[in-house]
Order: sequence, then structure tokens, then C-alpha cells
Amino acid sequence: MRINILLLFVLAFVLYSCHSIMTTRYITSEDIERMDIAQALGIPGNTNVRYGAWEHYVPDSLHPDHTPIRYIRVNFHWMNTSDSIYTPGEYRATEYTKGLVRASNYSWRKNKKMYLPPRNNTPVLPSQVRIVLTPDPSIPGDKGIYFHYDDQWVHHVHEGKNRTLATRGMYDKYGVQKDSVLNVFIFAHHPDSLKSETYNAYGGGVALGNFIKIVGIYDVYKNRDDYWKQRTNLNHEIAHIYGLSHSWIKNDGCDDTPPHVQDCFSRTLSAYCDTMASNNLMDYVAEQLALTPCQIGRMHARMSSLRNNRRKYILPSWCELKDTMHIRIKDTVEWLGAKDLEGHITIENGGLLTIHDRVSMPPGGKITVAPGGQLRLNDARLHNDCGKQWKGIEIQELDGEKGSIVFIGEPKLEDMEFPLE
Ligand SMILES: [Zn+2]
Repeated sequence: MRINILLLFVLAFVLYSCHSIMTTRYITSEDIERMDIAQALGIPGNTNVRYGAWEHYVPDSLHPDHTPIRYIRVNFHWMNTSDSIYTPGEYRATEYTKGLVRASNYSWRKNKKMYLPPRNNTPVLPSQVRIVLTPDPSIPGDKGIYFHYDDQWVHHVHEGKNRTLATRGMYDKYGVQKDSVLNVFIFAHHPDSLKSETYNAYGGGVALGNFIKIVGIYDVYKNRDDYWKQRTNLNHEIAHIYGLSHSWIKNDGCDDTPPHVQDCFSRTLSAYCDTMASNNLMDYVAEQLALTPCQIGRMHARMSSLRNNRRKYILPSWCELKDTMHIRIKDTVEWLGAKDLEGHITIENGGLLTIHDRVSMPPGGKITVAPGGQLRLNDARLHNDCGKQWKGIEIQELDGEKGSIVFIGEPKLEDMEFPLE
């Protein structure tokens, strides 16, 4: 009797299993539902998209994994005299450079709450930016750290009639991997400048479109940990490269970056400054540590634009499929900005993903739409930005219910191993 009941259970399980097998296949054009724009606009959450607007690139605090970290490739050049009067020694300078990269990334990783305006509710979002020291693979043993003993370009004069702010000769002569790495040059202040009482000899820099100059490291170089002071100097210039303006000017394009009140360069200067100093990365203040949502959005908009020529400095981490970067959509999500993804996408039961702009899928990556899930492509472009192929879109079906694919406008599906038939 007991055996019979067991058999019955096994039989029921087999029957049930046969009946409920999930099928998975790549979509054909017959799977596509079409929706016109007017119909789409009637759907809550659907909007007319201003392509490239910074708002579309602010990391989503509910889904931080939808904004993968951008790694900016950098290298460093220490400029010195032919008799190396400034050197802390190549070994120590190398250690210093590695420390500077570490400290820089500490700041990118630990965004700080804005001081201004007082009692603000400005969200503290992850920057999703890092830098990565990048050697030249064609130079054996290269570390991405270079030493130049050349009297012509040792000194940096930041202001005054002899200023060298815009001089580019050292980049033309010594730049390495210019088409893929952001070159950072480290200078000493000119001795004549240091004699002047009005010259500001502290850390500073300039971003000249495709490379960065930093000054102040030699002059304040006293111990191994000094790079903690210099990290904001470097990050400030990197942020310029990706389109951020100084936050003390009114039209920096961000409403959430009030400038510091005049002369309050630090909270510690006076009781008044205690509430009026800024700590924004793009202000000239003692603590340049905070990035606002608008600033982060602006940087990511630049990094995501195929037309922006500084995109070339970003490590193409999206050219390799990673299991850990698999995105699972379980609720209603709208991607208004462009993305370069590093994992598969699965839209689960109850999930709705609407894509409006460009999405690069990683080589071998795929989008899977589960029964009860929906993918809407609203004039979107799905492609692979590495000159390779991604697999394509697959739908799953269970008990007659299948994942749903909706086209609005004219979506473009490119570089798919299993294209639409
Ligand atoms: Zn600046």
C-alpha cells in the first residue's frame, strides 16, 4: 500500500513535470508586439527622452548594479631637472604614485555628504568611478610611471606673465598610450614663483583636454603619506576631463552645487564659515570630497557617449562577460541613458524593463525574458561596442505563458549571434 502511494506520487510528479517544463528559445519576429509612440506615452513612466541628459545617468540608488563602475586608465610622469634636484628617488616616487592612486580611489569610493546648503537633503550616491594605473604592454616591465630628466619642462608656473598653464610640449614629447590612457604630469613650482609672497605654492593643477598637469607634490613631499592631501587635487582635474565645471560659478549646470560663501575656504576658519564652507570636489576649498547627483550624472553621461573623445580613457570592462554582473529585473525599471553592460540581463516574472537609448551587451551576453516579464525597446539600440557579438534575446515559456517583447518606434538590434528571423 505504502509503495503504491509512493508510486502515485512519483507518477504525479513526472506528469506535473512534463506538463510544466520551461522552454527557452531565441525570439523571432513573430514574438514582437508593437506599440505606437502615442500608445506608449499613455503608459505611466514612459516619457519623451532628451538623449544624453545628465538626469538619465545618475546612479539609481535602488539598483546600483545598473550603473557599472567606470575605470579611468591613467599613467604618471614625474618631471625633473637633468641633475634631478627634485627627486624623492624613483623608488619612493613609484611608491608615492601607487599610494596616490589608492587614495584617489578611496575618495571615489567614499563619496561624502555635501556641507552646502546647510541642512540639505542632497543624496550621497556612489560615484561609480575609479582610476586604474595602466602600464604600456609594449614596454617590458612598464609600471605606467615614468621619469623625465629634462630641464625644459620641469617647472610649472600657475599664474602671472610667465605662466606655463597651457604648455603642451611635454605631452607631445613624453605622452604614452595617448589613445587610451589619461596622462598625468607632475611638476615642481618654479623657484622664482616660490620667492614671490603672493604666489600660491600649494597643490594645484590643470586639465588640458587630453592630459592633466599636477603641481605641488614635489614641494610638499615630506613623507610617504602625503598623497592623501594630493588625492583631491588629482580627482578635481579628472572630473574636469569628464566635463565638470567649478562649482563656485553659477552656471556649472548643477543646481545641487552651491558655491562656498566668499573667503570660507574651510569650516575651521570661523564660526560663520562652519556653516558656509563647501566640501565639493569642484570648489576651491580645504575639503574637496563631495560629488552631487548632478555631477556624477554629468560625468557618466560623458563616459557613456560614443561621440565623446574622452571615452577612450575608460577601460572597456564591458568587453568581457562576467557572471557577477548579471542584472535581474524584478520591478519596473526604465533606462533613459546609454549603458555598457558586463553581464546578462534577466527580466523575471513581474519585471518590466524599458530601454530608450543605447545598450552595449557584453560578448556572449544575452537578454532573457521570463514568463510574466516584459522587455520594451523604445527606439533603443542594442549592440556590442567591442566589435564582437552578443547572443541575442531569448524568451521563456511555461504553461502557455511566455515573456513579452514590445517594440516602440524603430529599435535597432545589432551584432547578435541569433538575430531576429
Ligand atoms: Zn579646476
